[in-house]
Amino acid sequence: MKALKIDHLGIAVPDLAAAVAAYEALGFTVQATETVATEKVRVAFLPVGESRLELLEPTEPGSVIARFLEKRSGLHHVCVLVEDIETALSELRARGVALLDESPRPGAGGSRVAFVHPRAAGGVLLELKEKGQRRQADAAAGPAAGSGRYSRSARRSCR
Ligand code: ZN
Repeated sequence: MKALKIDHLGIAVPDLAAAVAAYEALGFTVQATETVATEKVRVAFLPVGESRLELLEPTEPGSVIARFLEKRSGLHHVCVLVEDIETALSELRARGVALLDESPRPGAGGSRVAFVHPRAAGGVLLELKEKGQRRQADAAAGPAAGSGRYSRSARRSCR
């Protein structure tokens, strides 16, 4: 698998508005905000050079991020960009790497992502994200993507 760059670092937060305010006080700017209905999260992306921070707030109790926050907050995952996600997954599978996703799932911004098991990556949850976007994945992000007070920025595309 050829990792092109760190796409983003995912940080779990209990309150997105409060976390955005804290990061804005640190000098960061929100590039895009969106609800990813399939992942039960609301996310905000804050650019850091060519990478970004992804703040994740759970939208439902019992979701992956909600359960993570019951134990701790802070860094949740590291996301690396790959050229082709199917190729990356089949390469890793051939090497016997433990995967959480056997096939890609829709991520934020119409992306296609897949997660590698933390035991295969030194205890870090590793997200793979395919370069570029696909239309059907946009639709999969769902109507919730444009809802609420973040709707204006959610309409902006994020890559
Ligand atoms: Zn992520």
